[in-house]
Amino acid sequence: MPTIADNLEAVLTLMAGAAARAGRAAEDVTLVAVAKTRGPAEVRAAVEAGVRIVGENRVQEAEPKIRELADLGCAWHMVGHLQRNKAGKAVRLFDMVQSLDSRRLADELQKRAAAAGKTVPVLLEVNTSGEETKFGVAPEEAEDLVGYAAACANLALEGLMTLGPLGEGPLATARAFRRLRALFEKMAPALGPRFRFLSMGMTDDFELAIEEGSNMVRVGRAIFGER
Ligand SMILES: *Cc1c(COP(=O)(O)O)cnc(C)c1O
Repeated sequence: MPTIADNLEAVLTLMAGAAARAGRAAEDVTLVAVAKTRGPAEVRAAVEAGVRIVGENRVQEAEPKIRELADLGCAWHMVGHLQRNKAGKAVRLFDMVQSLDSRRLADELQKRAAAAGKTVPVLLEVNTSGEETKFGVAPEEAEDLVGYAAACANLALEGLMTLGPLGEGPLATARAFRRLRALFEKMAPALGPRFRFLSMGMTDDFELAIEEGSNMVRVGRAIFGER
């Protein structure tokens, strides 16, 4: 059985290869190790093997892990859908919220961040596949929400995030990733250097995502094993 450290090394090697094929340096692509359903010992093993950012998709599940692993010094990203009634906790617990998808959530995060005297880094989640089961703002509405979030004093809008379509093959996935990249490139000039992350790519498609311009991949199973 490969260890978490072995898996991590294999993922980093594949990431570097994809970056090279895209003409970019390996260190330009940030890895978020998605630890949903994993216990604290597994997260600790991943961080000790070199993971610096851990992703979680549920506030309730993440909270005890983040408290227990406070000594690790890693960053924590919320990558799953965030309910507004969890926004206060998310602001306290996470270093980034990758799943901003509505004005109402932006308002709530803004309010909670202001009350906590913090600035919360956020990514806007875009539904590039059109699948109704997916969260995220429609591509046509992304620009509006980007403008709205950029005007929230306590939110730092740092980029865009998407999930590829499920089980539709590499062409549909590449199309979704290209769509996000095009949006990103259209928006970036008006938003300044802090708007810099294109978060796309998971276990099944992170190499393709990097080839399509991703600079932040969120990988769970390839590091921790099947769920
Ligand atoms: C679970 C999850 C991932 C990682 O998925 P894997 O297939 O395990 O790599 C990435 N992003 C989000 C939003 C997730 O919920």
